[in-house]
Amino acid sequence: MKTCVLLFSGGVDSTTTLDMLVKDNFNVYPLYIDYGQKALRSEIEAVKYFIKKYNINQLKIVKTSTYKDIQGHPLLNLNKELDIASTDLTTSKNFLHFRNLTFACIAAIYSREVNAENIAFGFINKSTFNSFPDTSPDFVKKLNDLLNIIEPDFPIKIIVPCISLTKKEIVKHGIHNNISLNKTYSCYESKRCYKCESCLDVLMAFDDLSLEINIKDLKRYNPYKLITE
Ligand SMILES: [Zn+2]
Repeated sequence: MKTCVLLFSGGVDSTTTLDMLVKDNFNVYPLYIDYGQKALRSEIEAVKYFIKKYNINQLKIVKTSTYKDIQGHPLLNLNKELDIASTDLTTSKNFLHFRNLTFACIAAIYSREVNAENIAFGFINKSTFNSFPDTSPDFVKKLNDLLNIIEPDFPIKIIVPCISLTKKEIVKHGIHNNISLNKTYSCYESKRCYKCESCLDVLMAFDDLSLEINIKDLKRYNPYKLITE
């Protein structure tokens, strides 16, 4: 059976990725990284909901204090304000430096424990806002090469089943496949803030689908209450 470690945060993208992997007959080992993020409790609640729903027994939670020890990053520190949706992402306060490279290393270590030959990320296509550079196809290719230079005798493949899908297509896929998107958690803050780029991305995707999908389904799957409600 194909086996993979999935970096799973309980957000819209990694949940859709989980759904695709399970349907593609992967034996999935979800890995959640606790780096001290404000959204920790809400993310873990979502993560636990979905692993139960997909009948996955094993959840690995790895805690790292790297970001807390080195930076007082606004994604971690309640007293520091995040940037509202920004287009200049590498200088955005929301950019957590080397996050996916760090996460990939942790996933690669875990892959040895569970004998997984694949590591999956929930990266998607450039969506409403610019994508972070460590989610690009170029990053994926070079990361793959890098991991295989380090340990060529244990080949690892980075898989990103959603890389060509926009956020709108992800949400559409979720609704058509009956994924409980309303149980996902994608916000950077401890409670859905409706203003970070992650919240806005999801909200706008639902909004964009209003001509294609009936309002009852949009409301049912939408993790956000409508502002007007
Ligand atoms: Zn938010």
